[in-house]
Amino acid sequence: MLAPALHNDSQRPQPDSLWRAMAARVAQRQPPVSTGAPLARDLAVDVAVIGAGYSGLSAAYALQKRGVDCAVFDANPVGWGASGRNGGVVSSKFRLSFPQIDKLHGLDAAKRMHRLAHDGVRVVESFIDEFKLERAHFEHTGSLRCAHTERAFAAICAEADWVRTQLGDTSMTVQPREEVRRETGSSEFVGGVLSADAGTILPLEYVYGLARGLTERGVPIYEATPVVEMTRSQGGPAGVVLRTPGGTVRARQVIVATNAYSDLTSATAAYQRELVPFRSAMIATERLPAELDDRLMTQRRSYTETRRMMKWFRKVDGRMLFGGRDAFGKEGQATGFDALQRAMVALFPDLADLRIEYQWSGYVGMTFNALPHAGRSDDATTFCLGYNGAGVAMASLLGQHAAALALGETPELALLGQQGLRPVPFHSLRAPGVRVVAAWYQFLDAVGA
Ligand SMILES: Cc1cc2nc3c(=O)[nH]c(=O)nc-3n(C[C@H](O)[C@H](O)[C@H](O)COP(=O)(O)OP(=O)(O)OC[C@H]3O[C@@H](n4cnc5c(N)ncnc54)[C@H](O)[C@@H]3O)c2cc1C
Repeated sequence: MLAPALHNDSQRPQPDSLWRAMAARVAQRQPPVSTGAPLARDLAVDVAVIGAGYSGLSAAYALQKRGVDCAVFDANPVGWGASGRNGGVVSSKFRLSFPQIDKLHGLDAAKRMHRLAHDGVRVVESFIDEFKLERAHFEHTGSLRCAHTERAFAAICAEADWVRTQLGDTSMTVQPREEVRRETGSSEFVGGVLSADAGTILPLEYVYGLARGLTERGVPIYEATPVVEMTRSQGGPAGVVLRTPGGTVRARQVIVATNAYSDLTSATAAYQRELVPFRSAMIATERLPAELDDRLMTQRRSYTETRRMMKWFRKVDGRMLFGGRDAFGKEGQATGFDALQRAMVALFPDLADLRIEYQWSGYVGMTFNALPHAGRSDDATTFCLGYNGAGVAMASLLGQHAAALALGETPELALLGQQGLRPVPFHSLRAPGVRVVAAWYQFLDAVGA
């Protein structure tokens, strides 16, 4: 038996998040999700999927629907990675705006990317319907981007106008200062732009629901099963041999869906070099007093702000949930949470005396060109990764496209398609590089530039 060469993070349980507490409450009323025990024998499948987050589970579903024999393997429990920790903002955009995509790649590319972005939300909706995921509480309530300066407001208004005139998309509407103040309960914003094709979800329930649906459809999910070695099979047709502590898996194709946790073992570490992992942190307050609950975030949307070191927030379980990127801390460290609380109170002074009851973090996978990537790294291996912090909808979509790629199809990927691996240049300098950029962004945000 091989000794699993695991990165320290995977020894840790999933953080004690609000999502876990809410899932535990549901589990008291309904039976918990029961997926897989670890792999304890040798196995042969057509397609092996590594990673049981949105990407991997969505890929497995696309394979199962086509009648392809597949199995999912994860070093940890289902949803242990970003899929069980995120803010649950379901969005129809990329980190690069559509006008920026037009400038860099032309209008046709912007149109194709715009379709993909909205396809992501459609995939989430289809999972909710097909798998009957009521527990995930998907609400198509829209997302409001709140401007922190007049200059930022002008920029997001211009973007909404461009999307309407050039792409014919009328789902983005401008909201003046007073309306944003009334809806959010914060006086700190000068206006906002509402994207109607967006919403909120309970992220851990969503990934549990996907796993439950797959298990019911006969797709095995092996938890606590790290892939510790991945080699090409010798002789015969193209294929891969995956070694896990409990058994060997032979597959014709493998889909690597390990995103910002790819360095858990050396077998998948090459995919980590496609990314700059960035820590993202979240806090949740105690339940809001009734008066605040009635006044804050009355439309139950998700909210983001325009600062470069962006913060986002929503109300869930009667609490304020507040998140932001924290380039300076490491996962599991207590740093960064105080800064988040200060940022929250600056926007919502009424929350100053509320206790923070949950705090947790995880890694998002940023890419060099700020776009997700899906492609083949060789003739037996497909990957999808790099959602740049907006992966609930996009990983649900790209997982399906990765399945299609593994079967030799050519799904529409616009700018997201990538042939072979293209490691981030100077990858070993990524951690100090991220800190320098983040410090610069914080400075620009502070001076209102
Ligand atoms: C704090 C936080 C907040 C976020 N907020 C939002 C948000 O509000 N909206 C949004 O759209 N996106 C958000 N994101 C991003 C989003 O969560 C991710 O883009 C998405 O979950 C990626 O899913 P995934 O399946 O690709 O990866 P993950 O969910 O990270 O899954 C990867 C899995 O691979 C497994 N693995 C890794 N290596 C191996 C190996 N060698 N063998 C076996 N298994 C392995 C890991 O155990 C892990 O379970 C957030 C992310 C974080 C961390």
